[in-house]
Amino acid sequence: MLTIDNYIAQLLDVIDEDSSVTDIKVEDNVKSVTITKNLKHDLVCPICGSKLYSKGRFTKHPKNQILQDGYTLKLTVIGRRWICSNNECSYSCYDSFNFVEPHKQITKIIPIRIIMELKDINLSCTQVAQRFHVSDSYVHQIFMKYVRLKRKPLTEYICIDEVYLNTSNDCKYALVIMDFLTGDVLDIVQSRIQSYTERYFLSIPREERKRVKYICCDMYDPYINYTTRYFSNAIVITDSLCKVLHKLSYVNYLFM
Ligand SMILES: [Zn+2]
Repeated sequence: MLTIDNYIAQLLDVIDEDSSVTDIKVEDNVKSVTITKNLKHDLVCPICGSKLYSKGRFTKHPKNQILQDGYTLKLTVIGRRWICSNNECSYSCYDSFNFVEPHKQITKIIPIRIIMELKDINLSCTQVAQRFHVSDSYVHQIFMKYVRLKRKPLTEYICIDEVYLNTSNDCKYALVIMDFLTGDVLDIVQSRIQSYTERYFLSIPREERKRVKYICCDMYDPYINYTTRYFSNAIVITDSLCKVLHKLSYVNYLFM
């Protein structure tokens, strides 16, 4: 079984062998975890090659975050400041932690959690930002930086929906294409505006598009027109009907 130390260590991606979980307290739904950099004895100055020595410890509190199991994580990291032993050299540095982004008080795990949350197309960027106590623009940045989905082949039953991203004037809503039966995201198009979607859909081979039999989408004209423009063999099912079908689990029965 995973011990709580291992769990936390894994969670924070502390593959960095130079630090250890030195304290964990669990009180109500708050886990307080302290991670300390192990003391090093062989550090040398990258400028003059002299030995570095420790000038004392520092403590940092990266931003709190919600853990998956509902706990709030209060993180404390303890490291040291190092200075060069050569009086002529003014080099100094701080221990760094690979799970804390340089110069930011946000642990690297937050971007990953944000990406996971963004997969829920019912959540807006603003809601995700509020959940993680970060700004909207930070969520946008993360999305643009990490979401480089490789397009998956279209399936027979696809679902077209949108997420409010507001990355630029042109790109207020991104288009999300999913497999209706599995809910897998097949691709995300950065904007639902026609100049983007037309280029996108026409770049998919016609034979592949012809395989699509059903498109589930909102009652939004451009989406409904996709069938005539790009999916000549598909029938549109509007979103409300889709939801009902899904709920009643009739979808397999009706479509198979
Ligand atoms: Zn030096």
